[in-house]
Amino acid sequence: MTARVPVTPIDVSTLEQYDHETDVLIIGYGCAGASAALEACAAGADVVLLERQSGGGGSSALSGGEIYLGGGTPIQEACGFTDTPEDMEKFLLAALGPDADRAKIGLYSRESVAHYQWLVDHGVPFKPSLWDSPTWVPPTEDGLMWMGENSYPFYEIAEPAPRGHRVTSSGFGGKVLMAVLSEAVEKSAVTVHTDTSALRLIKDGDRVVGVVARHFGETVHYRARRGVVITTGGFADNKEMLAQHAPQLVGLGVNSDGGDDGRGIVMAQAAGAAVRHMSAGQVGISLVPGMMVRGMIVDSMGRRFINEDVYPGLVGQAALFQHRLRVWVILDEQAYEEVPVDERWGVQPHFVAETLEELEAEIGMPEGALQTTVGEYNRFAERGEDPYFHKSARWLRPLRSPFAAIDVRRGMAPPEYGDGGTGSGGAEVFTIGGLHTTVDGVVLDLDGESIPGLFAAGRATSGLHSWGYISGTSLGDGTFFGRRAGSAAATPAPGV
Ligand SMILES: Cc1cc2nc3c(=O)[nH]c(=O)nc-3n(C[C@H](O)[C@H](O)[C@H](O)COP(=O)(O)OP(=O)(O)OC[C@H]3O[C@@H](n4cnc5c(N)ncnc54)[C@H](O)[C@@H]3O)c2cc1C
Repeated sequence: MTARVPVTPIDVSTLEQYDHETDVLIIGYGCAGASAALEACAAGADVVLLERQSGGGGSSALSGGEIYLGGGTPIQEACGFTDTPEDMEKFLLAALGPDADRAKIGLYSRESVAHYQWLVDHGVPFKPSLWDSPTWVPPTEDGLMWMGENSYPFYEIAEPAPRGHRVTSSGFGGKVLMAVLSEAVEKSAVTVHTDTSALRLIKDGDRVVGVVARHFGETVHYRARRGVVITTGGFADNKEMLAQHAPQLVGLGVNSDGGDDGRGIVMAQAAGAAVRHMSAGQVGISLVPGMMVRGMIVDSMGRRFINEDVYPGLVGQAALFQHRLRVWVILDEQAYEEVPVDERWGVQPHFVAETLEELEAEIGMPEGALQTTVGEYNRFAERGEDPYFHKSARWLRPLRSPFAAIDVRRGMAPPEYGDGGTGSGGAEVFTIGGLHTTVDGVVLDLDGESIPGLFAAGRATSGLHSWGYISGTSLGDGTFFGRRAGSAAATPAPGV
């Protein structure tokens, strides 16, 4: 067993001298850190951005580049959709809940158009065209996509509008987002220190005043005159933390750059920070949404359990937390053929049969299980109805022989992953919970009081979310609340 690197904050009185001094020190150069750095710098502060790797990017650079924005952005309008901040807020409260952060969701929705403009002003490209089918990442450059806003029960809660804004890219857009933000950082007065890993905070009484870090084996001390901002990402790569807080996510693939070790969260906890929703996770279930929506998803007893047109991460949560990912996509030949080849991500049926009786026997389901489910589905689909789960009529059609089944635990191979596929037990996950922060990124303690000098944003915080997750809300809350944390940290506290 390797020795633990201590995380408890050190007291400034034990320190002989600082190696570096700045106004605002930001730890972690992903989307949240870059946004915080740009805004702190724009507010006139000296800024140092620490990054453990040899360059910025983090998980943000590997992401799909989908950013949840709405309330009437120019992209929505160009695609013919009207939207309001109120509808966006209602949708997010329902989809990210229960008990999602009302204050953050309200503000995020009201300022979404302005945030879109901030991204565009920094050079982030979005194309005004709609990809109109459930998917993880469209195989085209389309800039707008639905995130299940038009599915049950959400269309009853808020007027639907597509709000998934996708950074223009031929594949995953995260690399373009981070290239653009990094270029803006390079052009700014922000100083970037790479290969530097933050280990623990430095405190002066209650106030966080700096960071102890490691740079190529040397211990270095940073003083932050105004504030430290933690933007270090989540903890999905830390098996011990996962086992402590989110045990249902243990053993699955991880959707990250491999460095989501939770160090930033633990550093802040050791300084008294509160955390929220640590058991919550995004579950990127290994299936092609375009196949599922044209067919159905069933459990090991052949029973449907959700409407297949919701955001696929919500399907993933239901499949993992209720069915241990023992789930199959059932479809027919027509459904499979309708999915464009470049959207299939290497997924081929694992079982094919002329009859449902044969198919359920091949999978190992009880006799009659699929015959009953598909029979009921087809009976109502003839009339364009789904009284069981309310899938939209657009996707309802009786399934006909030959039938096929896909076992999601066998994984898939997104082109962006090169030769490597998913395949780690049926899903890739990341954590959603983290530090409890205000709308200004101020980190709160267990009494709900601000920890002076300490700020955080991105997946190191619980952000907008409680339990639910919708794609785009990580890059969205990371950039939006990263900006706010940067501005707040740049503002000198009275008497400091
Ligand atoms: C394949 C994939 C697809 C995704 N698609 C989407 C999507 O389309 N839309 C969406 O919203 N989300 C998506 N996500 C999730 C999203 O990318 C992340 O949740 C988000 O990028 C987190 O941003 P962040 O700035 O908080 O952290 P990161 O981007 O991970 O940045 C954290 C940085 O901190 C550094 N760091 C960590 N600890 C330390 C330390 N102790 N000292 C110094 N530096 C440190 C890390 O090296 C890293 O560079 C996807 C994720 C993956 C992996």
